[in-house]
Amino acid sequence: MKTGEWKYRKIAIKVGSNVITCEDGSLNVGRMLRLVEDISVLSKQGLEVILISSGAVAAGRSSVVPAKRTNIVSAKQIWAAIGQVKLMSTYQFLFEKYNIVAGQVLATKEEFSDRRHYLNMKNCISSMLENKVLPVVNENDTVAINELMFTDNDELSGMIASMMDSEALFLLSNVDGIYNGIPGNAGVEIISEVVEGTVNPEQFITKGKSGFGRGGMLTKYATARKIASEGVDVFIANGNRDSIVLDILRGRDVPFTRIRRCNDRPKSVKKWLYHSDTFARGAVVVNRGAKDALLADRASSLLMVGITGVEGYFEKGDIVRIVDEEGNSIGLGKTAYDSRKAEQSIGTRLPRPFIHYHYLVLNEELKNGFSS
Ligand code: GLU
Repeated sequence: MKTGEWKYRKIAIKVGSNVITCEDGSLNVGRMLRLVEDISVLSKQGLEVILISSGAVAAGRSSVVPAKRTNIVSAKQIWAAIGQVKLMSTYQFLFEKYNIVAGQVLATKEEFSDRRHYLNMKNCISSMLENKVLPVVNENDTVAINELMFTDNDELSGMIASMMDSEALFLLSNVDGIYNGIPGNAGVEIISEVVEGTVNPEQFITKGKSGFGRGGMLTKYATARKIASEGVDVFIANGNRDSIVLDILRGRDVPFTRIRRCNDRPKSVKKWLYHSDTFARGAVVVNRGAKDALLADRASSLLMVGITGVEGYFEKGDIVRIVDEEGNSIGLGKTAYDSRKAEQSIGTRLPRPFIHYHYLVLNEELKNGFSS
């Protein structure tokens, strides 16, 4: 679709708990309806839309007051178990009014930990889109365990947008965008566009978060930067404004912050690796020569001959960190050998690289293309 300046075929929209739930935690059905209307307009114009919606925990809160001995983790699991059903049945009901079939996708971070699961989820969402079923994604909060949770749904939406090759991601919360100071002060306005090498908005973002959701503007911006470096335009905007996504796409004069994509889209396997740093199983130490080669040329593979140490236990195909002899992390990659074979082969030559460059990402890439 032609969108003023922007032309997209596939977008992801993430909507926060604060937009679609009321103060008492009940679902704000009127707000959800507005969002559904917008999405139906976009779908009719042939745009593929993936919706990532929070609100499960908030929506379950009003139904149950957990017993005193129930800890907060369990309480949230219970609320999510109740709230996710309410959330999804409301979406299905509303989308049906526009002849759109909506389906639920629940994800845990573990799905991103191995390539098979990752591709399985990608395949599932692709098939839904192909069959004109609108995917509504949320974290599976009833079973997600703390250490393996997404930071928040902003992170989840970024991973989904990148995985599905969306051209744009809309992060809708209850703020209009990122301001260049304290909102309300003289001269303070929304930064309409963040471009590589220009102003670093982090200095203006306060740490707080509002209301029910887990995220805040800092994590939103961190996600936005990372995803922009993977070739996705990211828009931070206010989901409480009617038709905000349509208005942005149509080039209307509405407030938002756009974090402009700053790289071409990486290969699928690299995108998976970009989001897999928490799943690394072990590490290998590389010598100076190997480090220099990796940093000098993005098409260098890591050869066994450059490895001087192996830490931890890993299988062939696991993700391992690459560290230099001073212990600094350089990057990570998917190994072609397990840790036993690697230990036995330190300093020797093996037929295949330890990590092929297609399966290797450097921290510089992970930190993404923005200079601040
Ligand atoms: N998945 C959570 C929910 O549906 C929200 C997480 C977040 O706030 O980002 O309640």
